[in-house]
Amino acid sequence: MSLVTGIVLGNIAMALLAAVLLWHSTRNARDLKAALTRTQLLAATDSLTGLPNRAELLSRAAKWLAADGRGTTLVVLDLDGFKMINDTLGHQAGDDLLAAVAGRLQACLGEKGELARLGGDEFAALIPGTDSEAAAIGFIRAAEAALASPFELSGDTVSMTLSAGIAIGAVRGIDPAELLRRADVAMYAAKATQHRSWASFSPDMDESLQLRRTIGAELEAALVRNELQLVYQPLVCTRTGRVMSAEALMRWPGKQGQAGSPGVFIPIAEETGLISKLGDWALDQACIEIKRQKTIPIAVNVSPVQFRGEGFAESVETAIRRHGIAPELLRLEITEGVLISHTGEAHRTMRRLRELGVQVLLDDFGTGYSSLSYLQKFEFDGLKIDRAFIQQLEDGPTGRRLLQSIISLGHSLNLKVIAEGVETEDQAALLQLLRCDFLQGYALGRPDAAEKLHSLSFTEMLPLTRQRSN
Ligand code: C2E
Ligand code: CA
Ligand code: CA
Repeated sequence: MSLVTGIVLGNIAMALLAAVLLWHSTRNARDLKAALTRTQLLAATDSLTGLPNRAELLSRAAKWLAADGRGTTLVVLDLDGFKMINDTLGHQAGDDLLAAVAGRLQACLGEKGELARLGGDEFAALIPGTDSEAAAIGFIRAAEAALASPFELSGDTVSMTLSAGIAIGAVRGIDPAELLRRADVAMYAAKATQHRSWASFSPDMDESLQLRRTIGAELEAALVRNELQLVYQPLVCTRTGRVMSAEALMRWPGKQGQAGSPGVFIPIAEETGLISKLGDWALDQACIEIKRQKTIPIAVNVSPVQFRGEGFAESVETAIRRHGIAPELLRLEITEGVLISHTGEAHRTMRRLRELGVQVLLDDFGTGYSSLSYLQKFEFDGLKIDRAFIQQLEDGPTGRRLLQSIISLGHSLNLKVIAEGVETEDQAALLQLLRCDFLQGYALGRPDAAEKLHSLSFTEMLPLTRQRSN
């Protein structure tokens, strides 16, 4: 081989090598690029639902909020009571539910915006434009309706409710993380109100959230220092005029102002999770009182959060055993809210309580949802007609007819009927005529120390009863 041929061949070999290398490197580059895209996609996607994740949501929001964007409305959605499903039905069921929820939410949002999963049971939707509050509310309503129809999960059916917060971000007015924080704050404000499942952010919510956190911390300290009390309000039998049972109501004597009322601090305890400790404490105190006086049944209010919590029936059983009390002397008052979602679990808890011999009363009857169907599905021992109906009693015949039909309904289902918030002797007399079984209210006795219960008698206020045959 001549030198020239050698050089030429060498060059060809070099060129080939270079070509191979080049080919390799471009393929590598392509592979690398594909791999990079895949990783970026993975980093941007929530693996369970396939939706964009929090980081991706923030980066998309940043685009809408940049100088050349249109601004955006952000909706944060949180599933009520999801943790409980996870805890009771297992993580697989929880995951299945989240994936199904994601599908339904996506269908509700359609092309109007972009859906993301923030993590846990929190979802978010970006709806372009700063004039999209109405669209956001429309989406929330559609989502509520979609989640209300049952999900089938490993043999259980659950329907879900949600809480939502809305925050509006103008171009260059706000950064994405702050927008998300505001929507979150609004969502917590929505959770704290009873009447609506969503709220739009307003600056005073920041203050109110701060205040609620402080109250929550003070309440916890009060519980630890044993500064809370239970007071007892009598339930009077319309046939005998005697105290037949009492309701235990929580008091926080050290707290001045509105926050000292259970109507305010109980919902805060529910938000912060303190309610389970508070509820255990109330149950314990009521058992001590039952053990002390051994005659008058005492009803304890149970928060929906507590009732749905893991092992609620078992904790009641443990308390009864520990204090050695007769289960018939303990009653629980629950509201319909308990039964709306996860009916499977609520059924189990109810059954267990009934097996124990503990009576369960449906509280605030008439203020909730489809009351009748719950009355038929769950075996209550009694129903407490909400105060609002008693107040209408003197307004004319309609209020009276309404009460009459509620009382008949209760009796036809074999339930004891209790009227709450009876404030005047006239109301008491009317309710007695309408054959309401028990009365509770300021006219018969304010919530007070347990010792007072024994000395009460109402035979003068409720004289008609002795003339009745039954
Ligand atoms: P609730 O279970 O409906 O309790 C009845 C409320 O009506 C009590 O308010 C009681 O003091 C009040 N009340 C009784 N008679 C009358 C009346 O004639 N007129 C008027 N206007 N009000 C009357 P309270 O004690 O402020 O409790 C408010 C709510 O806080 C309770 O409503 C209950 O939902 C909750 N709560 C109280 N104690 C506990 C507790 O230990 N655990 C839980 N989870 N919730 C509790
Ligand atoms: Ca009650
Ligand atoms: Ca009530």
